[in-house]
Amino acid sequence: MKPAVIIIDMLDDFVTGALANPRAQRIIPRIAELAAAARERGWPVVYANDAHLPGDFEERVWGPHALAGTPGARVIAELAPREGDLELPKRVYSAFHETGLDAYLRQHGVDTVILCGQHTNICVRHTAADALYRGYRIIVPPDAVEAFSDEDHESGLAYLDMAYRAELTPVAQVLGAVPAG
Ligand code: ZN
Repeated sequence: MKPAVIIIDMLDDFVTGALANPRAQRIIPRIAELAAAARERGWPVVYANDAHLPGDFEERVWGPHALAGTPGARVIAELAPREGDLELPKRVYSAFHETGLDAYLRQHGVDTVILCGQHTNICVRHTAADALYRGYRIIVPPDAVEAFSDEDHESGLAYLDMAYRAELTPVAQVLGAVPAG
């Protein structure tokens, strides 16, 4: 298994800004652990960051958020990218859509994506769909993704299992601190 950690939309606007979500605080330490372990093990760490242009279609749903080049579109300080990490701007939910992510992962021999960040039932879900279509094994640690409500989070996880057979494995088990199973 050669995994990559894909950190989705852990941006100022998604944590404390335009689309603030206090629930996101819970997952920050888990994502930090994942990213640190990945760097140690030579797994790629990729940040898939909303970087919208004014008038992007998504504004119909959410209003303006994470506009490219603004402070709201920055990765939160607690999870700031390190040297060697990759930041990919995206303009729709999926981290794969017109970002070059697939080519980057293949270039690095990646066969497994570990998806974390926000939101369980939106961008994580759409990224998982695109990962399935491209043949990746999909791991989504439930303690490293969040949504705007318990219901959105839980139904999002159930959908990831049902539609994509995503492995819902907690971070500690993914990293081998606890025996799997
Ligand atoms: Zn967006």
